[in-house]
Amino acid sequence: MTFTIAVLKGDGIGPEIVDEAIKVLDRLGEKYDRQFTYKRGYLGGESIDKYGVPLSDETLALCKASDAILLGAVGGPKWNHLDPAIRPERGLLAIRKELELFANLRPAILFDALKESSPLKRDLVKDGLNIMVVRELTGGIYFGKRAYSDEEAYDTMYYSRAEIERIAVEAFKIAQKRNKKLVSVDKHNVLDSSKLWRKTVEEVAKDYPDVRLSHLYVDNAAMQLVINPAQFDVILTENMFGDILSDEASMLTGSIGMLPSASLGGRVGLYEPVHGSAPDIAGTGKANPIATILSAGMMLKYSFGLVEESWAIDKAVDEVLEEGYRTADIYTKGKTLLTTSEMGDKIAERVRG
Ligand code: NAD
Repeated sequence: MTFTIAVLKGDGIGPEIVDEAIKVLDRLGEKYDRQFTYKRGYLGGESIDKYGVPLSDETLALCKASDAILLGAVGGPKWNHLDPAIRPERGLLAIRKELELFANLRPAILFDALKESSPLKRDLVKDGLNIMVVRELTGGIYFGKRAYSDEEAYDTMYYSRAEIERIAVEAFKIAQKRNKKLVSVDKHNVLDSSKLWRKTVEEVAKDYPDVRLSHLYVDNAAMQLVINPAQFDVILTENMFGDILSDEASMLTGSIGMLPSASLGGRVGLYEPVHGSAPDIAGTGKANPIATILSAGMMLKYSFGLVEESWAIDKAVDEVLEEGYRTADIYTKGKTLLTTSEMGDKIAERVRG
């Protein structure tokens, strides 16, 4: 079976970490007899340098014609002087919008070997953590009507029923494949948009009777994440609440270098690490490639339906960490320090079995 992947390496550590994910995919392809074909596109600063814009028509067409997109990260000091409208990060917003990637999936998984890296008390994470935050990505306050003057300013949290319905359906389907527990987070006691959110989620729930649905106000959800994170399986929420809660959930796991993400909705899914382009460590071999490797694992599962292969990546990462191999960001005394490409090699070896 052949799959075509659009590869957008991006800026800073982007090229280094994407190369390691490709290394792992190739070894996996050999083992399971899958063919991955890579088509190089350009996003962010590298695209500004090449085409003068953060997302070119060529790259967009390439992405649309592929089966999935693997992205490193964009941005860096070289482009910070540019007008915000043509900065590298704009490329990311544009591609999400163009490809209708309305569902952002961010798993926050605490690997056993990294329990000591969690900022939470040991007994709160003794059984590990495995939370999936499903965040609405193309609506809400970041996209609503806004205005600014020196005297007053406003932003609008707008949601249509259709927008809520489609993200809720994604979240219920994901919950069905996990522990069948879904917490929908809103501010139903104050916001009208949350009233429609809750009503719509409850209607969608009727089609998924096997999933246990509950609701939390966003302020309580933020608190519950730090006092009892093990209660969560899937969290469904709107764009801004999800932005904040997914960062909070992800930090419970220790390092930003470990966290993958998937953006879904349209025909082509986009997979990228949660972190940015880390210009401070670019080219030093210190970048942790695991978030990108795990993102490639999500691609196998969610875009290609290769569940066993995806699991093989998670397992390989787990084993390498258990054996005491670490990049600088997750290094603790007594462990073996590896560079970016050495970590990629170790995981690729494990994947091949
Ligand atoms: P960042 O995530 O790039 O870095 C924050 C800190 O985490 C830095 O100290 C960095 O060295 C470290 N870090 C990040 N990823 C790491 C990894 N894989 N291994 C080890 N350490 C890692 O965030 P920032 O410094 O705020 O932003 C830098 C640039 O990235 C900016 O231009 C920003 O706009 C951009 N950015 C891009 C994305 C994206 O492409 N999705 C996301 C966030 C930020």
